[in-house]
Amino acid sequence: MKPKVAFFDFASCEGCQLQVLNLEESIIELIEIVDVVSFREAMKEHSDDYDIAFVEGSIARPMDEERLKKIRSKAKILVALGACACTGGINALRNQYSIEMVKKGVYGDADIENNPYFDVFHTKAVDEVVEVDYYVYGCPVDKDELTKVITSLALGKRPEIPNYPVCVECKKEGNVCVFEEGKFCLGPVTRAGCGARCPSNNNACEGCRGLVDNPNINSELEVLQKYGLTLEDALERFKMFCYREMSK
Ligand code: SF4
Ligand code: SF4
Ligand code: SF4
Repeated sequence: MKPKVAFFDFASCEGCQLQVLNLEESIIELIEIVDVVSFREAMKEHSDDYDIAFVEGSIARPMDEERLKKIRSKAKILVALGACACTGGINALRNQYSIEMVKKGVYGDADIENNPYFDVFHTKAVDEVVEVDYYVYGCPVDKDELTKVITSLALGKRPEIPNYPVCVECKKEGNVCVFEEGKFCLGPVTRAGCGARCPSNNNACEGCRGLVDNPNINSELEVLQKYGLTLEDALERFKMFCYREMSK
């Protein structure tokens, strides 16, 4: 029997769900192996009977926490989809300010007291509220990797997510390092899996897939040292996508 899959969104731009819709020809193959039972961005039908829940977005309000816990209670497997869900992503940048400042900055003098829709707290990643089984990194997620993850889960296998830096993929692509052009690239300490998309288009990696594990012992740090930079320089730049990790 095909596993039932559902997609859910919280605070996000919905770009990661859009990547699912952008799967194009592989979507035909995927619906051969999974049943999509809920996907607000793509279909009207909704079912609370699912095996695998893909959760996009970060958690911003008590009502979000409640909803996420219900999703977790129904799902056998829960996957965090994209940077907002995995780490809080760029939404977590607001955590450097007080909630009062954030509300004032966004809503001004509007009367938002006692309205649960505006009852925001500091942004949380999905795993700060419920247990997460797997993470699909990136802002947005990479289509090829997403296809592999859905296929693995449908076959009952553990998805393989790279734990080596973007530099490895960049070198495989034969790119000229963007440091040579005076750009600051986070590739040496960022988790691979995107095929070094940004450096392959002559842009620096901004670290949207988060930190590779144990970046301090990775030999790719030599790249940073070669250009007179330190691990701390790179980590400071990581705040855009990994504010939570960097502010610990
Ligand atoms: S990770 Fe990026 S693309 Fe995905 S929902 Fe968040 S902001 Fe949008
Ligand atoms: S630092 Fe950036 S551009 Fe240079 S090799 Fe690594 S990923 Fe590629
Ligand atoms: S190169 Fe870096 S910023 Fe670009 S998609 Fe890959 S991880 Fe994200």
